[in-house]
Amino acid sequence: MTGCPMKAEEAAPFFYRRAYRLLGGRTPIPADCGRLCSSKCCQGGEEDGMILFPFEELALARAHFLTITRKRMGTRQVAFAVCPGRCDRALRPLSCRLYPFAPVLKEGRVRIVPDPRAAYFCPLLQKEAKPYLDKAFLSAAARAVESLRSLPGFDAFLLDYGHMLKEYEGFTGEIL
Ligand code: SF4
Ligand code: SF4
Repeated sequence: MTGCPMKAEEAAPFFYRRAYRLLGGRTPIPADCGRLCSSKCCQGGEEDGMILFPFEELALARAHFLTITRKRMGTRQVAFAVCPGRCDRALRPLSCRLYPFAPVLKEGRVRIVPDPRAAYFCPLLQKEAKPYLDKAFLSAAARAVESLRSLPGFDAFLLDYGHMLKEYEGFTGEIL
């Protein structure tokens, strides 16, 4: 946001609405994958939750179904959104829109990679599903996350997020 007079807190809702729009209605496969698994990823408990990206909670003021908590990710505190297992899809957080993928920063660019935390239970991360993954979703996801990088601290967050995912990958091995 160099040279931009608007504060990050004021700009964040605009940035996230734009990112959600860039992703549009695209999903990892061009079908309702929840029917494959009875929406397993939406059935977490109060201890679970979807990580929120920097300033994202400011864009979720209308998402009353979410409870925002804070947890540690490495050395930083990050916001998590906990839901009751159903939501208004138009207001769901970015992590939910990207799942079972996640963004990392590699060689200065956003890459969308399989989320190792989903490796054991998401059918979309099984090798057999690979041919069905929608490339248009993966590139739109990368564009959406790229569009957030001018928010202060966003790149540093992505680097820490990538380290955290790498640690998980130590347990699951490389996916896809
Ligand atoms: S993302 Fe994976 S776990 Fe979630 S509903 Fe789709 S197939 Fe099921
Ligand atoms: S907010 Fe919606 S998409 Fe995200 S975990 Fe909850 S029910 Fe699933």
